[in-house]
Amino acid sequence: MATLRKADSYCLGLESTADDFSVGILSFKGDILANEASMFMPETGGIHPREAARHHAEVAGKVLSEALRKAGIQQREIKIIAFSQGPGLGPCLRTGATAARALACYLQVPLVGVNHCVAHIEIGKLITGAKDPLTLYVSGGNTIVAAFEAGRYRVFGETLDISVGNCLDVFAREAGLRQKIGEPLGALVEKLAARSQNFVSLPYTVKGMDLSFSGLLSAAIELLNSKKYSVEDLCFSLQEVVFSMLAEVTERALAHTEKPEVLLTGGVAANKRLQSMLEALANEHNAKFGVVPKQYALDNGAMIAWTGILTYQHGLSTSIEKSFVKLKWRLDEVYAPWVGG
Ligand code: AMP
Ligand code: MG
Repeated sequence: MATLRKADSYCLGLESTADDFSVGILSFKGDILANEASMFMPETGGIHPREAARHHAEVAGKVLSEALRKAGIQQREIKIIAFSQGPGLGPCLRTGATAARALACYLQVPLVGVNHCVAHIEIGKLITGAKDPLTLYVSGGNTIVAAFEAGRYRVFGETLDISVGNCLDVFAREAGLRQKIGEPLGALVEKLAARSQNFVSLPYTVKGMDLSFSGLLSAAIELLNSKKYSVEDLCFSLQEVVFSMLAEVTERALAHTEKPEVLLTGGVAANKRLQSMLEALANEHNAKFGVVPKQYALDNGAMIAWTGILTYQHGLSTSIEKSFVKLKWRLDEVYAPWVGG
């Protein structure tokens, strides 16, 4: 005889800020029941926002039903719908928000708009057990050093132009490295970098606590086109310079905040060289080091669902009228009453 499972409370979270469309389902206690994703892969060049949004609209139904099937829960157990409200690419965000509004209306449950960057930190804390980390969040769209201080996550350092991931990806494309399904360009740079020890000088640009990658990228591409150095040498040098810049800013923020933990997240967190640099600096400052595993470090629906739960449990939700997307929503604008007790 089938046993009747006691109904529980779950949140379904939708992520759609850039190239990934993802659906996560979590219990209010933090059990991850599903985290399904579909990534948009352009045939050539970078991500065109409208094409990525079309991809999201096309796969939304499939990803949603797969997540619901994996979670094996009843519709009535979904107590809230969370969605990434920003920052991100307008057409992509709007596609996710439209799906979230439709679901919330259909299920007659509250909607919770979530800041994508805050969500990366919160899922990182849930997965690694970190309580109050200094976070380095490095991805295709963002480069941020953040920590919690007085009611909000504060930005201690950030990029002034492009993100680290974008810098690595553009260089890889210029070098003709070909992306296979599921293999990110940054990972190809990492592979080639491991084959060289020949350091070629590139502009190291840290301004105060902020970073700039665009001049460095142009210089690397110029050297590539000069054909004076191998692609391996340039991948190696690019990684060394870019990751040293990140390590410098992270270390200074750590010395200033005296946080007990360092958390590394975002797609670029998969890089072993970056991991080893950050682990070394965390050790020097007696801080615990944690890397968020790939499936939760890349853009994912689970992080949106979890942050939706934290937000909702502190009495916050988003009315349909206020659920417009916020393309440039900074993480330090988010009131985060759930942190710190
Ligand atoms: P996200 O924006 O969080 O989805 O992350 C995507 C970014 O992570 C892209 O710029 C990828 O090239 C980058 N990335 C993924 N794996 C690696 C790796 N092993 N080393 C460096 N960058 C990586
Ligand atoms: Mg992505």
